Amino acid sequence: MYHRVVEREDRRDGDRFVTSVRRLRRHLTWLSRLAYSAVPLTALLGQPAGPGRRHLAVTFDDGYADTLELALPVLEAHATACTVFIVTDCIGGHSRWLEAPHRLLSREQILLLHQAGVAIGSHARTHRRLTQLPDAELWSEVADSKACLEDLLGARVDAFSYPHNDADPRVMEAARKAGYRLAVGGNKLPHQAHHLHRIDSAQLNHLQLLVQVSGVHRWARRQPLPKPLRAAARRLL
Ligand SMILES: [Zn+2]
Repeated sequence: MYHRVVEREDRRDGDRFVTSVRRLRRHLTWLSRLAYSAVPLTALLGQPAGPGRRHLAVTFDDGYADTLELALPVLEAHATACTVFIVTDCIGGHSRWLEAPHRLLSREQILLLHQAGVAIGSHARTHRRLTQLPDAELWSEVADSKACLEDLLGARVDAFSYPHNDADPRVMEAARKAGYRLAVGGNKLPHQAHHLHRIDSAQLNHLQLLVQVSGVHRWARRQPLPKPLRAAARRLL
């Protein structure tokens, strides 16, 4: 999972959701060297998260303009499939959920991504925490954002991404009822079609990414290691 992509990361910025073009390129280069291939999210349905997988899905949340301007050329150079999740009430505007707002994709730019073969998914209407909304507002966030994107693209929208990775069984059921085939979230609830686990890869170096993609870190955390070793492993992995 990625968010913003920038030419150069500014360490003083402290934004953990930012990835430089160089870092993204390095991630994709190493994944392909180790024979991992990126597939559309829907191709992962029904597959367990864990060691042994050789394919993965690349996703970008929020729909920043830099997804088209900076990430797409890198993705195309590596023939990498990806899904971009759009906050539909903010199309063509700026992210309102961050301290420093950032430019979001316009309707025309979303269409350009779609024409380039990028899958478009919904990231709700307003990027609010869905578990805190009453039923009617929750429904509008999941169903109206889907309808908005389907109108724009003239194509079915199958994937949803929970804003802030915030989901519970009620929210997952709303996503399912609205017609999404899958939804992506954090790692707090079990891995399933409407709560696929993701790796927050924005700030990982390529070794950390490869460890997480391989699933070795989950295995290592379950091992009966002495406390100091376990703490060291947690820091490294
Ligand atoms: Zn988001």
